[in-house]
Amino acid sequence: MEKRTILITGAGRGIGYAIATKLAEQNYNLVLVDINADDLENAVKTLPGDGKFIPFTCDVSDYSQVETVVAKAIEEMGPIYGLVNNAGITRDGLLLRMKPEDWDLVLRVNLTGTFNFTKLVSANMIRQKIGRIVNIASVIGLTGNAGQANYAASKAGVIALTKSVAKELGGRAVTCNAIAPGFIATDMTDKLPEQVRESMLKSIPLKKFGQSEDIAAVVSFLMSEDAAYITGQTLTVDGGMVT
Ligand code: NAP
Repeated sequence: MEKRTILITGAGRGIGYAIATKLAEQNYNLVLVDINADDLENAVKTLPGDGKFIPFTCDVSDYSQVETVVAKAIEEMGPIYGLVNNAGITRDGLLLRMKPEDWDLVLRVNLTGTFNFTKLVSANMIRQKIGRIVNIASVIGLTGNAGQANYAASKAGVIALTKSVAKELGGRAVTCNAIAPGFIATDMTDKLPEQVRESMLKSIPLKKFGQSEDIAAVVSFLMSEDAAYITGQTLTVDGGMVT
């Protein structure tokens, strides 16, 4: 069978890079998007398998950059089968101290970035009458969290966007699901104070932090034929934190 192409945002490091590694092992061709050109270059050099990997430096929150990336990716790779909206940031702070620019930036990258790629890639999927969209949300989008009003709102928005897209595109055999990771050991969570990390560990029934590979495994499942009848869902991958 001809290799299918999957586009992954935030693919340069962390969870995005683990997703790229897993999908590369499974023989997909990959379009790798990240704001950091050095990380992308490193990713292309180190990914396993013999698939075709093309990197694009792009800010997911900028619609015109995303338009250019999607057009070039289709030109070079052909139809896009899968999309993983993974790029995300935090700018934490208590509500009363949160700067409006930190609210805007987190919403723009996490939610508008997901909208930008979903809108532009799904047009191609609809024409192919097949497609898989996986959005990386967060358990914080389900529960809320003190000090993360912007992040929580952006991820709750991603979950609602996922449900809406699933309803709109189901008739064209395009599925759209979200994954809500709990605490995954990456650079994003390394920044948290030791005290916060310890208290989070106590709230995880499986008594350990997740690994990026735990999320990559679920993305791989959602891209597979076995997941063809799943859409509009949010799969929580958090060691049992949120039930
Ligand atoms: P990470 O280690 O910070 O990696 C995020 C990647 O996205 C980085 O390569 C980053 O580039 C890139 N990026 C940031 N802003 C971007 C933009 N505007 N356009 C394109 N790329 C951009 O984060 P992670 O922990 O792997 O998280 C990945 C996703 O999982 C995020 O959506 C996050 O919210 C979600 N998540 C993570 C956890 C966790 O515990 N780690 C839990 C729940 C959900 P730079 O290197 O330049 O920053």
